[in-house]
Amino acid sequence: MNSFLFLGTGSSMGTPVVTCKCEVCTSSDPLNHRLRPAGLFKIGEERFLVDAGPDFRYQALKYGIDRLDGVLITHTHFDHVAGLDDLRVYYFLQKKTLPCLLSQESLDDLKKTHGYFFKKSNDDVMGGSRFNFQVIKNDFGKEEFGGHSWQIMSFEQGGMKVTGFRIGSFAYVMDLKHFTPEIYQALKGVEVLVMSALRYRASPAHMNMEEAIAFATKIGAKETWFSHIAHELDHKKASQQLPAGVKLAYDGLEIPC
Ligand SMILES: [Zn+2]
Ligand SMILES: [Zn+2]
Repeated sequence: MNSFLFLGTGSSMGTPVVTCKCEVCTSSDPLNHRLRPAGLFKIGEERFLVDAGPDFRYQALKYGIDRLDGVLITHTHFDHVAGLDDLRVYYFLQKKTLPCLLSQESLDDLKKTHGYFFKKSNDDVMGGSRFNFQVIKNDFGKEEFGGHSWQIMSFEQGGMKVTGFRIGSFAYVMDLKHFTPEIYQALKGVEVLVMSALRYRASPAHMNMEEAIAFATKIGAKETWFSHIAHELDHKKASQQLPAGVKLAYDGLEIPC
């Protein structure tokens, strides 16, 4: 059976937040311990990573990720790409470049932030890309990647292009706030929706709980899982306030997809 593993369900700073002494950050409930947002598609024997944030190395050790067939990048904010360099271990292990699906905007950003990925080198010490970058052709529509058909949806966060991915009736949509109505069409018929819901207070960059619940209700998936959760939310308390069919994800949760 195919599944999706939540490697991290926290927001950009994770929970606990460094230096924070709030109730959630000091909680002993493991459901309140959230690494930076990322996930792993398990399709048969294949493994596709979505995002490689600053916790990637720890996540790979914790969940025994011993193979990768591809990586999908939602966007290039630090909490989603800071662990990309650690993926070189799969290049050494698998002796081939790792397919990486991303938008043209994300690729352009990586050329600035990870310039050495793109330098040619003969000695294989530092340079030469360990990735095989595949640029997404259209903002919406199908993209063949790693032998599978992924449905793309594009939106925007603080002026940065963000990509959501759908495979079959499962969709992963992070850092959602500003979007065009085309997203409703792209998510039509989705049975499992994973989406970001930051906190109770409003945020300029993310949907808060109220907005996320309204969006989830409009999509009407059988199951909606909230991720990218800030330290404001205590797992147990916040879970009790969600409508039927909407739940808070947690690190290590694995759901069929
Ligand atoms: Zn806190
Ligand atoms: Zn983020």
